[in-house]
Amino acid sequence: MRSPILDYLDTIIEQTEDINSGALADYIPELAAADPESVAVALCTVNGTVYASGDTDHRFSIQSMSKPFAYALAIEDHGLEAVLEHIGVEPSGEAFNELSLDPETGKPRNPMINAGAIAAHALIADDEVPAVDRMLGLFSQLAQRQVGIDEAVASSELATGDRNLGLAYLLHASGGLTQDPPAAVAGYIRQCAASVTVRDLALMAATLANAGTQPNTGERVFSRKGTKHVLSVMASCGMYDAAGDWLTTVGIPAKSGVAGGIMGVLPGQIGVAVFSPRLDPHGNSARGVQMMQRLSEDLGLHLMETGRPARSSLREIRTATIEGQPATIYVLQGDMVLSSIESLVREIIENPPSTDIVIFDMTRVDEVLPVARRTSSETATKLIDEGHRIILIDPENTVTDFQDSQGRPITRWSTQQLEENSD
Ligand code: GLN
Repeated sequence: MRSPILDYLDTIIEQTEDINSGALADYIPELAAADPESVAVALCTVNGTVYASGDTDHRFSIQSMSKPFAYALAIEDHGLEAVLEHIGVEPSGEAFNELSLDPETGKPRNPMINAGAIAAHALIADDEVPAVDRMLGLFSQLAQRQVGIDEAVASSELATGDRNLGLAYLLHASGGLTQDPPAAVAGYIRQCAASVTVRDLALMAATLANAGTQPNTGERVFSRKGTKHVLSVMASCGMYDAAGDWLTTVGIPAKSGVAGGIMGVLPGQIGVAVFSPRLDPHGNSARGVQMMQRLSEDLGLHLMETGRPARSSLREIRTATIEGQPATIYVLQGDMVLSSIESLVREIIENPPSTDIVIFDMTRVDEVLPVARRTSSETATKLIDEGHRIILIDPENTVTDFQDSQGRPITRWSTQQLEENSD
């Protein structure tokens, strides 16, 4: 059975198909050679399950989405206080490559713009391992595969990196750079050229969503405190001069890159990543922003939306005898949003019910969001197609119009009917 969550991700791609505004980044010549039509989306739960649709294996350079990770590593190395001595946490309201430092402090305003990111990269250089190798090691640990560098992108940007070099000299002059400017810029540019897929990014984001622990390996990569800090800076500064617009419309900590990726983190729930190479005037993927907006609305991702629990919708699975036949009862609870029903859907796919009768007990369900309703009605359809009979116990009428996606009605019983028919 194909997961309805994948079907949902397909629709995100379909619904944004006609968005072709924006332009490829051309200040890095190699990026201008990208296929503008390439598109992908992935999400990863804090349990480590990845769902991806579109060009899921397409590799592109991580670019500025590497910045939160370099910053997080600098915090692990030196402690937050020491890093704050070098790099501020104020949104700059300026473009990512603005040639400026905070006039009051003389420091880069934040680690998400290039000035702060070059300073963070220099902070993680150590005597034995070059900073780039440390970053590649970190990406590989987060993505659970060996991440390498796209050498064509790296040399293309190195050849045209004057602006970043200018920034590094400015930092050096103000005493804020712990490495030689050319070495810091060369390392930073290679860090940005790490080659990733949306799957990799979703896993990386899920580690941040999971308070710094990689969800599949269980390794603690970043401290809780460091993760909280990095996510806060992503929320206020991750989308550069579009950060306010982003926080109000999409509402999750995020980071974009000029190759066309955007990675978002819903703390405690999921990591998301989208890819589409055409950029808007802020340097964020134009179609990617739209995909993220839809994901946020459909899945109830907005941080300021109250009362969306992270707990699973699946409370327990019971067996019973109904009208003399064995039945499986899935007892559901809480608000049904995508991240809470994911474990239910996965359980049904991985361990399909062995009885003909399948009962969903929604007595403890509060609210069902549209995508959760769609996903569960598709799951119901698949179960009916496989010969199961479905009975819904929904005394509060949380899903009044519930039917399977073929339009076939589903038997509804009251709690009393369930009791009367149980042996
Ligand atoms: N390597 C790119 C640069 O420094 C990263 C910028 C970005 O992704 N916004 O210009």
